[in-house]
Amino acid sequence: MTMSTRRGFVGLMSAFACTSLASRGLAQAPAVCSDPATLPLSQRSRRRALGYTSPSNDPQKHCSLCAFFTAGAGACGTCQMLSGGAVEATAVCTSFTKKS
Ligand code: SF4
Repeated sequence: MTMSTRRGFVGLMSAFACTSLASRGLAQAPAVCSDPATLPLSQRSRRRALGYTSPSNDPQKHCSLCAFFTAGAGACGTCQMLSGGAVEATAVCTSFTKKS
């Protein structure tokens, strides 16, 4: 195998791996619905007080399953407990309340 053929093979395998991971949703970057650095102090304080964590470590507890969550565009939504602040659907906080 020549050097250029080897590079072509490695490039092809990398492209295949990326496509394969993306098709299974494993290579997608987690959603970022709000930039913590630009949030108002009140939002940052409230999130800290509620232990807002993104993403959640518990697959049974995340914002999209919470009664306080309102779905928005894509993987983002808003939270009543955060005064309508933007949250990631995959995040969670200590006020999680499962939708009935
Ligand atoms: S209360 Fe917590 S878990 Fe529920 S939507 Fe708001 S931030 Fe997410």
